[in-house]
Amino acid sequence: MTFAPATDAHVHLMPDSLMTAIRGALYDAAEWEIDHPTDRETMEAELTAEGVAKYIALPYAHKPEIAAELNDWVLAQCANSEMAVPFATVHGDDEVGEVVKRAFEKGARGLKFQCPVQGCGPADPRLDPAFELAAEYDRPIMFHAGTAPMFRDNPAVGFDQFVQFVETYPEVRACCAHMGTYDHEAFIECARENEQVFLDTTVAMSASAPEYMDFDPAVIDDDVFEDLAGSIMYGSDYPNIPYSYEDERTHLLSRDLSAEAFEQLFRGAAERFLGEN
Ligand SMILES: [Zn+2]
Repeated sequence: MTFAPATDAHVHLMPDSLMTAIRGALYDAAEWEIDHPTDRETMEAELTAEGVAKYIALPYAHKPEIAAELNDWVLAQCANSEMAVPFATVHGDDEVGEVVKRAFEKGARGLKFQCPVQGCGPADPRLDPAFELAAEYDRPIMFHAGTAPMFRDNPAVGFDQFVQFVETYPEVRACCAHMGTYDHEAFIECARENEQVFLDTTVAMSASAPEYMDFDPAVIDDDVFEDLAGSIMYGSDYPNIPYSYEDERTHLLSRDLSAEAFEQLFRGAAERFLGEN
């Protein structure tokens, strides 16, 4: 039982209109053609068939005034699911505190920021009310804080902003998605130094990473997964990936890791991130 029953810490669950827009943007930016399903029941059937038992459902708001309704939609979807853990989002130009408090009160288990797309990063003062509520409610935050795959010049990402967040909110568990690529070395070091800092493997550690994000997952040593067992979560970006779901794990499974490191990667670290242990 190395992989199954896995927790996938990075799945996108959003209404079809938003998914269509996201896929259009990914096609325009990188010619990614994506054909995985977007409705929850079909997604969950595919995830279950792949050995996933639980997943974190991540929305994000690319513009103001949609987050509250989007969060409600995600929470309603997850109420009918045995395997989804709902996260919420908010845009920097929203009534940030109000939107986040409402989502937490309704059961959102954490927050997601797709920083480059939302135009607000971990050091954006507009998000301070959200970060303060995350501390108060003990809810973790998932940030797309790195520059991969197409955000090298985006002002909302980068290690400097993330480390500023870590220093300001040391009590908040925070994950930098995609192993922090393309600044993975700095993010890995940050996770070594701060037990509340997490990374996820999403796309960066997939067998398709060289082709789709010009990144070779082999440059990250096995030692990183051993040393940071409990701080690195398996994630996929499903269903918005231009390759098979299986590609997300084949490279990871080819590594010579200890049973404990695999256990933490595929289950344990997500539990700790969610505050379940
Ligand atoms: Zn994602």
